[in-house]
Amino acid sequence: MPKPGVSPAVIAGFHVQQSVRVRGQFAGIGGLQVLQLPVGESVPTAIATYQQSGLVEYAEPDFIRHLNASPNDPKYTDGTLWGLNNTGQNGGVADADIDAPEGWDLLNSASNIVVAVLDTGIRSTHEDLATNVWVNPLDGGYGWNALTGTNNPADDEGHGSLVSGALGAAGNNGKGVVGVAWQVRIMACKCFNSARTAFDSDIITCIEFARTNGARIINASFDSPTLSLSLSNAIYGARNDGIILVASAGNSAVDIDTSPRYPACYNIDNIVSVAATTRNDTLWSLSNFGATNVDLAAPGNQITSTFFLANNSYIGSLSGTSFSAPYVAGACALMLVKYPAETHQEIIARVLNAADPLPALANKCVTGGRLNLRKALSPPIQLTPLTTAVDAPFRLRVSAGPNRICVVEASTNLTGWSPVLTNTTAAAGWFDYTNGVPANTLIHFFRVLSEL
Ligand code: CA
Ligand code: CA
Repeated sequence: MPKPGVSPAVIAGFHVQQSVRVRGQFAGIGGLQVLQLPVGESVPTAIATYQQSGLVEYAEPDFIRHLNASPNDPKYTDGTLWGLNNTGQNGGVADADIDAPEGWDLLNSASNIVVAVLDTGIRSTHEDLATNVWVNPLDGGYGWNALTGTNNPADDEGHGSLVSGALGAAGNNGKGVVGVAWQVRIMACKCFNSARTAFDSDIITCIEFARTNGARIINASFDSPTLSLSLSNAIYGARNDGIILVASAGNSAVDIDTSPRYPACYNIDNIVSVAATTRNDTLWSLSNFGATNVDLAAPGNQITSTFFLANNSYIGSLSGTSFSAPYVAGACALMLVKYPAETHQEIIARVLNAADPLPALANKCVTGGRLNLRKALSPPIQLTPLTTAVDAPFRLRVSAGPNRICVVEASTNLTGWSPVLTNTTAAAGWFDYTNGVPANTLIHFFRVLSEL
């Protein structure tokens, strides 16, 4: 916004100096201009340059707004999928959910993210899975079958297709259910037989297949009390390639800090282990837990998902941490889209920081909380006044998650707002703003705007 009285020619000359192009102008809004930066110029740097020029009233990013995203899948719109959106239907507690619609407003597709599901396989022709199945560019297969040594991971039990639906059943296609990610590439890695058992060697074969074929996330909805060094080493190999492994905590109602379950309890920094919550935001009665070895919880009771018996088969009233893990894996897939430059540690830290603390989960897992997709994709902005001394300059801490552009605005009357600072939060997730005016001389209100 040009400062009143500054000649348009002077501003135009400054744009030329900065190699900035004017893309549009609003004569009725004080000559407000839309600027295009040269390639390689960062938005915060350009904003600082213009603010320091003395030529502008303010400069701020061209923020992106999003339309509300609400999918038309019938088992979502009728309230069956309470874990995604809970309004208190069927005896539940309102908002005992992962805030999926709020998260989807920001991002609902992870169409280029490959998630390997290590399980009983997948019904690749299912109407709500077919469009989200990964296809191997080398052989046209949908994954790998370690039992037969072929590229045909057909599901002969059902568990893998159920898990796949919770992760990534096709969203907004007018059919069945919707996964946490409406679009994603599900790589079916069959290592479990129709009796739901697997050799470690077959699991490791699948981890290696996932690792060498572009998977970014591995969903491991299984657990065993047996420690295997080989399995641990395989997961560590995936870790070195930046792959996140989401493990279910298990369904034995035990504390896995004292009765370990693997892979959940391996101490490797790419493992996220997940307990199960109910539609009332309580820990599901059979869910394992562990203040050290379980990271967070996610819905895992009275779940409905895609079933393997037919292309239009669905089944409900399912319970287990097997469903909690793919909720988290789906969230991680969306986050890899939102934050493509971040490491597996950074993505996992975002998921854990975003968990909603629940009384029922206190001391039951590291975060004491349940997955929240919206907060994971966009941490809420918090303002904390830091000044306490009279006559000291007013100071404010802006917390909004790492690497986020924020515009601080000030007002004396809550009606007219003026931008006073544009800044980017550091990796630690915050920055401080200091107003030169002593805190006790003038009533000021502050707010912060940020791209979602
Ligand atoms: Ca909610
Ligand atoms: Ca669907």
